[in-house]
Amino acid sequence: MSQTFETALAARVTAMADACTRCGKCVEVCPVTGPGGVAAEPRAVIDGIIDIVRTGDGPEASRKWANACVLTGECIRACDYGVNPRFLLGMARVAMARRGDEPTEQRRHGIEGFRKVAREVTHISQMQLSDEVLARLGQKGAAQPDTPPDFVFYTGCNVLKTPHIALLALDVMDALGVTYQVLGGPTHCCGIVQMRTGDVATSGRMAESTLDKLARSKSGQVVSWCPSCHVQFTETTLPTIEKTRGARPFEMTPFMLFLRGNLDRLRPLLRRPVHMRIALHRHPGIKGVVEAAEDILRAVPGVELVDLNQPAVGLMSNYFRALPAYRRELQRNELDAAERAGVDALVAVYHADHRELCAHERDYPFRIMNVLEIVGESMGIHHDDQFKRLKLLQDVEAIAADCEDLIAQHGLDPATTRAAIQAMLDEQPLPLRGRSPAQAD
Ligand code: SF4
Ligand code: SF4
Repeated sequence: MSQTFETALAARVTAMADACTRCGKCVEVCPVTGPGGVAAEPRAVIDGIIDIVRTGDGPEASRKWANACVLTGECIRACDYGVNPRFLLGMARVAMARRGDEPTEQRRHGIEGFRKVAREVTHISQMQLSDEVLARLGQKGAAQPDTPPDFVFYTGCNVLKTPHIALLALDVMDALGVTYQVLGGPTHCCGIVQMRTGDVATSGRMAESTLDKLARSKSGQVVSWCPSCHVQFTETTLPTIEKTRGARPFEMTPFMLFLRGNLDRLRPLLRRPVHMRIALHRHPGIKGVVEAAEDILRAVPGVELVDLNQPAVGLMSNYFRALPAYRRELQRNELDAAERAGVDALVAVYHADHRELCAHERDYPFRIMNVLEIVGESMGIHHDDQFKRLKLLQDVEAIAADCEDLIAQHGLDPATTRAAIQAMLDEQPLPLRGRSPAQAD
C-alpha cells in the first residue's frame, strides 16, 4: 500500500530516533538550554526527547528544551551521526500537541492559527499596496506566465507585510535578467501552522498542494524568501514527499544564497557607492545565509561592515516566543552595541526581524534597514518602507487613518483591520530600554 504523508513522516521520525546514539552533543551546543531552564544532563535530555517523539510525553527538562528551541541549527552541525536534532525537536513538539489535544481540537487550533496569519497578512499588506503591486507579488489576480520561468520565487506569507523587501528582491532579479514566477501568501501555505497544533494530516495536504504549485519551474528550482517556510519544506515536507512519491519535485535555495551565487553578475550593477557604516543582524538558522549576506554587503562600494560581536541565535526574531525575556535582552544588547559602534544602520536579512526592530529607530541614533535596501541603493532601486513609517506612528487610529484610502479601496473590514494593526504594534513593543517617547527625539 502506498504511504500517506502522515505514515511516511512517522517512518522518518522513527528512523531518525533509531539513528540517534544519545551522545548528547546536540544538547551541549544548544544556545537556549540556559535561557530555556533546561536543567538536566545532556544525555538525559536527548533520551527524553526520544521518549517524547515516541509517546508524546517525557521528562520536564526535555519538554522545556523542545519548547525553547529557536531553530538555530547548531545541533545539526554538532551531530556526527546524520541525525537532524532540530527536526526531532519539532516532531517532539508535534507529539506533545497531539497528546495534549483531541484531533478535533488540533484541527480547530490549526484552522484558527491559519486564519489569524491569513487575516493579518492580507490586511497589513493590502492597506499598503494597490491591486497592481499586489498582483506583482503574486496576490490578487496575478497572471500566469506564458512560458515556464527559470524558477519560482516563493515568498511565504509574512514578507507581504513588509512589501518593500519583496519588491526589492523582484527588482534585483529583474536587473539580473532571470525569469521567475512569484508564488506565496496564505493560498500557498507551507503547512507549518497546522503542524504546530498536531494536525499532521491537514498540514501535509496543504504542503502537498503548495508543493505541486511550486513544482512548475523549468529548472526544478524554487528560490525561497522565508526561512520558516524553507525549513518546513526542506526538513519536513520535501524529504517526506520523496518517500511517498519516490522523487523530490524541486530543490529549494534561500534567496541570499541565490544572490551570492550570482555575485559576479550583480557586482557590475552595484554602481553607486553607499557610504555607510553598517552592522548585520544575524540569525544562523539556515546554513550559509549570514555569510552570503556579508559577502553581498561587502560587494557594495562604500559599505563598511562592522561586527558587533553579539550572539547569533535562532532562525528569526519571532522564534523566541517561548523566551520573551531572552529575546528582549538579545535585542537590547544588540541595539546598544550598534549605538556604541556608531553605525549608520543595523541591517537585517529577514522580514520578521525588520518588523520587530524597525520601530526602535525612534529610540536609537541609526537606521534599521534590510540588506536589499543597501543593495538597491547601490543599484539605483528604491521602494519606500511603508511598514516602518506606519509602525513608528505607534497608534492604531493614526495608522488606520493614514491608510484609509487603500482600506476603502480593498473593502477591508475596519474592526479586523484595527485588530491586525494592533497585532503589528504588539510585536516587540517600544521602548526597549526604558526611554520615554518624549526623550526619544
Ligand atoms: S541527535 Fe546526534 S548529537 Fe544529538 S544525541 Fe543524537 S546522535 Fe548525538
Ligand atoms: S535548533 Fe538550535 S535552538 Fe533548536 S535545539 Fe538545535 S541548537 Fe537548540
